[in-house]
Amino acid sequence: MRKRVHSDEVKAAALKKLEERGVTIRDIAEIVHAMQSPYNKGLTIDQCAESVLKVLSKREVLHALLVGIELDILAEQNKLSEPLQTIVATDEGLFGCDETLALGSVLGYGSIAVTTFGYLDKDKIGIIKRLDTKRGNGVHTFLDDLVASIAAAASGRIAHRMRDEEEANEAAASASGENAG
Ligand code: MG
Repeated sequence: MRKRVHSDEVKAAALKKLEERGVTIRDIAEIVHAMQSPYNKGLTIDQCAESVLKVLSKREVLHALLVGIELDILAEQNKLSEPLQTIVATDEGLFGCDETLALGSVLGYGSIAVTTFGYLDKDKIGIIKRLDTKRGNGVHTFLDDLVASIAAAASGRIAHRMRDEEEANEAAASASGENAG
């Protein structure tokens, strides 16, 4: 039988790489909070962190992380062949594969995730800004987009869950109203 990598192994490896590259769950949760708190007044960082962890259990997201971080590391070590080495190491603005890889893994989270990703790609905040390769602290050409995509997916999740909860509350309220009447 062919060898198959278990999801737990993929998840552990991706989370470890994220940590080694200096990104914490809290860093990503803070971005989610900035994106979603205008629409959800009581939203806490812990709720955002929980949503980030849910996104980080999706195989496609984990695979994208492993691929992107690996390419960043190889570029830092000068191990890619040219011209890819220079393109990745200099974070060439028109490269596009970093955004495409990151975006692909969040398409399943709907339009809020996609538009939030576009917003974060233009207006880098928090850890995404700190990771910027052009600021000269290692190569994070792929990682900044991957972090943006995880934050965007977690934001989309929260928006939809919030509406689900509101509707469940409305249904419960009208049911108790009917009972009282
Ligand atoms: Mg990038």
